[in-house]
Amino acid sequence: MFFQSPPDFGQPFEDDHLLISLLHRYIPQEHLSFILADLKKFGSRVKNEMESLAKKAESSPPVHVPYDPWGKRIDEIRVSDAWQRMHEIAAEEGIVAIGYERKFSEFSRFYQFAKLYLFHPSSAIYSCPLAMTDGAARVIELMGTKDLKSQAFKHLTSRDPNRFWTSGQWMTEKTGGSDVSGTQTVAKVEGEIYRLSGIKWFTSATTSEMAMTLAKIEGEDKLSLFCVKLRDEEGNLQNIEINRLKDKLGTKALPTAELTLKGTPATLIGERGKGVKNIANLFNVTRIYNACCAVGYMKRALALSIDYSKKRKAFGKTLNEHGLHVHTLSQLQLAYEASMHLTFHTAYLLGRSELNKNSDTEERVLRLLIPLIKLYTAKMGVQIISEVVESFGGLVTLRILAFLRSFEMLKFWPFGKERPMYFHLMLYVRS
Ligand SMILES: Cc1cc2nc3c(=O)[nH]c(=O)nc-3n(C[C@H](O)[C@H](O)[C@H](O)COP(=O)(O)OP(=O)(O)OC[C@H]3O[C@@H](n4cnc5c(N)ncnc54)[C@H](O)[C@@H]3O)c2cc1C
Repeated sequence: MFFQSPPDFGQPFEDDHLLISLLHRYIPQEHLSFILADLKKFGSRVKNEMESLAKKAESSPPVHVPYDPWGKRIDEIRVSDAWQRMHEIAAEEGIVAIGYERKFSEFSRFYQFAKLYLFHPSSAIYSCPLAMTDGAARVIELMGTKDLKSQAFKHLTSRDPNRFWTSGQWMTEKTGGSDVSGTQTVAKVEGEIYRLSGIKWFTSATTSEMAMTLAKIEGEDKLSLFCVKLRDEEGNLQNIEINRLKDKLGTKALPTAELTLKGTPATLIGERGKGVKNIANLFNVTRIYNACCAVGYMKRALALSIDYSKKRKAFGKTLNEHGLHVHTLSQLQLAYEASMHLTFHTAYLLGRSELNKNSDTEERVLRLLIPLIKLYTAKMGVQIISEVVESFGGLVTLRILAFLRSFEMLKFWPFGKERPMYFHLMLYVRS
């Protein structure tokens, strides 16, 4: 009986000639051998440890437990062991820390993003909390209070899994995410601190220890930036209620919640009324994460598709012997390579900018590139992956069916016995 050999993405680092050539081009000789050796070792960890954890994490989504058995409000979010393990791996590998240790001077960001690019496709999107963590660390580094610098910053940039914190970023409210001027959360001053009240409509990484958020100080029109520590010393949420977890189309492992703040203590960061300008320091980092993760996904998708094209036969020859198939893959490869160059040049400029090494022109190019690469790689990522999904032909349909079977509403239907239902679904999915 025939069984198709499945595609394999190979060794994430050693087989990535473009990443290796970019490292040779940008990283000076004195740093190169350490960085290459570390990425090679990490590539094996991605393949041998992280990939199976990512699958486990995506198939065991987080659960919101609002009350304990005695009716007390607890608002726990229970996540899988695999998701927790991602937290430990991220800390051990220094995915955030590398950018702030700056052991490789202005090349530290380039090295960090190369590692993130390898981490992301097998992380079940643990890269999302890391992006916001890195952005929060940058905000604190630039404008945090003395306390935040001596405590939170150290947690956010730690390599010790037990000390490592992640941070959320709570901006979007029901009134809008692109335009946050309608934000309804109010901050009331209370001595040294503020107390926030309002509803945050999208808060990813809700299991984080802290978050950066926007609110209007009572009586003011403009937004200010605040830092919130989610739990008190006893581990109780600080006047925060979790309304529900979002039921998202993708990113199942990542908990994204709707929250109500009911007088949550918060620390003002930077000047009052300059919240949007100040939180842009966080965006600049998260946008580059977004691009880096998009190119990471493009690479993973292409590695699988190219490998499959060597194994799958149609009309007497392998797919990679069919000119039109190769033409399609080469177009995708071209778009991916262009995205890589843009993204990693931006990472290089970011590292230089943080150490004040950019010329005025480089600084302006960086400012221009950050939103552009986020937009371009996000759009390109969807196109490339969509095309790659088609390169596996109908097999993908069966995978989607397997996925659908895992849904609550379908799980009691014995597909083997209910053939009509199976065909009905097949037609539905195909259409
Ligand atoms: C998986 C996921 C996780 C998220 N996690 C977080 C999180 O952790 N924290 C957080 O704060 N938010 C989070 N968000 C929310 C996200 O930031 C917002 O959804 C996003 O900013 C868009 O805001 P909106 O949904 O209100 O859409 P709107 O702002 O209402 O936009 C609707 C449409 O209008 C378009 N549009 C808006 N303004 C303009 C304009 N000026 N010109 C032309 N077109 C325009 C938009 O492009 C979009 O197509 C998350 C979203 C998702 C999907």
